[in-house]
Amino acid sequence: MGPFDKFHEECGIFGVFNHPEASNLTYLGLYALQHRGQESAGIVSSDGSALHVHKAMGLVADIFTEPVLKTLPGFSAIGHVRYSTTGSSQIKNAQPFVVSGGIGNVAIAHNGNLTNAMEIRKELESYGSIFQSTMDTEVIIHLMAISRERALLDRLMDALVRVQGAYSLLLMTEDTMIALRDPRGFRPLSIGTIDGATVVASESCAFDLIGAVFEREIEPGEIIYVDKKGVKSYKPFVPVKQSPCVFEFIYFARPDSIIFGKNVYEIRKELGRQLAREYPKEADIVIPVPDSGMPAAIGYAQEAGIPIELGLIRNHYVGRTFIEPKQSIRHFGVKIKLNPVREILRGKRVVVIDDSIVRATTGRKIIKMIRNGGAKEIHFLISSPPTRYPCFYGIDTPTKEELIANSHSMEEIREYITCDSLGYLSIEGLRHVVGGEQKPYCYACFDGRYPVEFPVRIPKPQMPLFYNL
Ligand code: AMP
Repeated sequence: MGPFDKFHEECGIFGVFNHPEASNLTYLGLYALQHRGQESAGIVSSDGSALHVHKAMGLVADIFTEPVLKTLPGFSAIGHVRYSTTGSSQIKNAQPFVVSGGIGNVAIAHNGNLTNAMEIRKELESYGSIFQSTMDTEVIIHLMAISRERALLDRLMDALVRVQGAYSLLLMTEDTMIALRDPRGFRPLSIGTIDGATVVASESCAFDLIGAVFEREIEPGEIIYVDKKGVKSYKPFVPVKQSPCVFEFIYFARPDSIIFGKNVYEIRKELGRQLAREYPKEADIVIPVPDSGMPAAIGYAQEAGIPIELGLIRNHYVGRTFIEPKQSIRHFGVKIKLNPVREILRGKRVVVIDDSIVRATTGRKIIKMIRNGGAKEIHFLISSPPTRYPCFYGIDTPTKEELIANSHSMEEIREYITCDSLGYLSIEGLRHVVGGEQKPYCYACFDGRYPVEFPVRIPKPQMPLFYNL
């Protein structure tokens, strides 16, 4: 790929201002947000006169040992977890970014994707900017650096009016913290308090872990500025139609979080109820795909009046360090993670529920596993519409061609998965559950209607060598 070797990112951010245990709290906050990114993690702390940083590849609990946390002193800190599917040693892309220079020392952590980052980067490079990473976030820093404004917030605004797309951001200097959401509010971001200190997190589940009080969500287009004098809120953007990501509800956020004004678990359960209304089945049991299909399966079972059973048991201790032995005993595939309970499945007509299908590789393996476990009839129901379009706003999805629902008919997918029937929730059903027409969301992965356009690359053969002849 181009200068941004990873276009699709998934991330979580956490920040705390004015607390003696700032980096410890950030460590715990990131721990609660680990589901939002497992490739790298970083924390930057401030002791009032300098920024301290530690970033590494891997999981939060492995990276931030006690000795490491001791190197992150101070009363404020921001942190980031990141997931991307390319590049194993992309430590240069780990966040928060820390820069120093004309703008002073600034750390930045970003969740989301900027859709015009590539264009801006090319422009800045033509003026001589030298980029350290392949992350879209870095363009914000460069734009801030070339701003003619003096105050940090003004520099930031100069940068933000140029960028498009999805960004929930945390910035920190030695004595301030800034948190904001893009005007469309693609990604969640909440604010809370603990012992009089301000905390900010991608999801409220991070507040629960540290015992912070969830105050409210930061609004789309709102900038929260925190310093020793207190917390200020600004709304400098011209309001635009909001488009929070509906896929946060379906798959990405943790079920115990409150995002976009709603509890994620309740929404998922309601999606399952809606699924039962759209696909009533004559079945003996409902089985969730652990753990992604769990809340929707509960909703389905309740609405349909069919008992729910754990027909698949998950090994919770499968880590990234697992080494697959060679040859003879290989090809466990999904068996490493899941095992069917034959006593539950034998001779049954089952409804299997998951939250989404991407490439359908998991679904196919799971359905075969349930069949081998003795199920007589298998109905595979999905608590979201067919995922047909890639996300350009911060959810990791494969290319359009690799999304099975983009390139195959329902019958072809059913045949591939080998289930007796296949059903996806309707977009109308999804819309109804998340609040109807009056609550706008981004449904681009389902309907291809992207709220923010992204530059389309000219296919190579047609690209003129010289533009202004
Ligand atoms: P697949 O086998 O490619 O169809 O993947 C489907 C499974 O991946 C489902 O169990 C989903 O819960 C999960 N899933 C959906 N979206 C994503 C995503 N963006 N990243 C990782 N897993 C996902």
